[in-house]
Amino acid sequence: MPSAVIDSAVMGNPVMTQTAEKTNLLGMSLPMLQAYFQEMGEKPFRAVQVMKWIHQRGITDFAAMTDISHKLQEKLQLEAEVRAPKIVEEFLAADGCYKWIVEVASGSRVETVFIPESDRGTLCISSQAGCILDCSFCATGKQGFNSNLTAAEIIGQLWWANHRLGGFAEARPHAGKTNRAVSNVVMMGMGEPLLNFDNVMAALSLMMEDNAYGLSKRRVTISTAGVVPAIDRLKDFTDASLAVSLHAPNDELRNQIVPVNRKYPIRELLRSVADYMASLPDKRVPVIEYTLISGVNDHKQHAHELATLLQDFPCKINLIPFNPFAQSDYRRPSNNAINNFRQILQEARYTVTVRTTRGDDIGAACGQLVGEVADQTRRSERYRRAALESEIQAQTALAASQGGSRTFTRADNLAVPADSRKPN
Ligand code: SAH
Repeated sequence: MPSAVIDSAVMGNPVMTQTAEKTNLLGMSLPMLQAYFQEMGEKPFRAVQVMKWIHQRGITDFAAMTDISHKLQEKLQLEAEVRAPKIVEEFLAADGCYKWIVEVASGSRVETVFIPESDRGTLCISSQAGCILDCSFCATGKQGFNSNLTAAEIIGQLWWANHRLGGFAEARPHAGKTNRAVSNVVMMGMGEPLLNFDNVMAALSLMMEDNAYGLSKRRVTISTAGVVPAIDRLKDFTDASLAVSLHAPNDELRNQIVPVNRKYPIRELLRSVADYMASLPDKRVPVIEYTLISGVNDHKQHAHELATLLQDFPCKINLIPFNPFAQSDYRRPSNNAINNFRQILQEARYTVTVRTTRGDDIGAACGQLVGEVADQTRRSERYRRAALESEIQAQTALAASQGGSRTFTRADNLAVPADSRKPN
């Protein structure tokens, strides 16, 4: 049982008028918002003002945005809104982790997790309701794919966490940005972020935008199972950090546990990740995520094979002991097996971390996020494959036509000053 379950009334979800025809400004990156105001016949600097109200002060009511004219306030009230997704439940774990259940427009529910640590606070954000990739050890994949989250639904999770945890300037007028509860964001909630490319890019842009959350690019991490054409496009849109869910040291095993590997094998994946890292203006390495599953990929031989595979590939390795869930027969390895695996990699001179399980009394640990997709019927294997095929084709086609309808580019994100804080 969760140590606390508070319903949304108690949490005080901000009251927001919901009118389908109004334009929701919450998910708009700075260039999008500038274009919006320009179309209205307003000066582009209005975008910066409104953005600060929304994302730095947490204000959703145009009437409270005191540095914009009365006339513009009224116009915005008629045409626009600032609408965060609805938070339907909150869980607080014994270790201080929060899990929020977020209801999205498709009717599905996704989950957001906040993990406080002594030196940082990490928000784990969802990008899709369900997931099409169906990795064999992941609870989210078991329910199939339901919908892509909108940019507002993605950034809305960060907006909400700030609202809830007192991170907005209005709530704590003397607190600097660095004192905010959320210092890091990982796109490691439900879904495959790179299969919801445009919306995730708009949300990332806001996370790192100085006039919004101003998070360092080192503290915003995309995690992907390996959608290679999308990784190849990434450098034109963002310079966020990257984590790759590898989970196996060879294609034969990876084909079984991460099915997208059948389309994009390890060699291609590592090539695309290396290209992205090389495109970054600063020196950073990707994180290789490796979920350790007892008897599947945790043998000493696998560790040796992994050490050899990555010998020319600068990276950090993060071992994630498998987190069990109801529909899975997999088991978490013993501490001994985990330590042996880690030791082999350390002896091969890799920087290795073992992810500690947080929030598992509220089902908030990695891979335990299940949300609740609107259509609970599990899609047939054939449908699943066809859908994955077409998603991937769409990504590939987009990669080919790159540059077409971009509303923002990496240059927009690069406006963020270089971060002098210590990398994580
Ligand atoms: N689609 C993205 C984000 C997924 S969740 C990706 O694949 O990277 C973030 C991490 O948790 C991934 O590395 C994922 O493989 C891992 N994970 C999923 N289910 C897990 C489980 N049951 N136990 C431990 N780690 C899990």
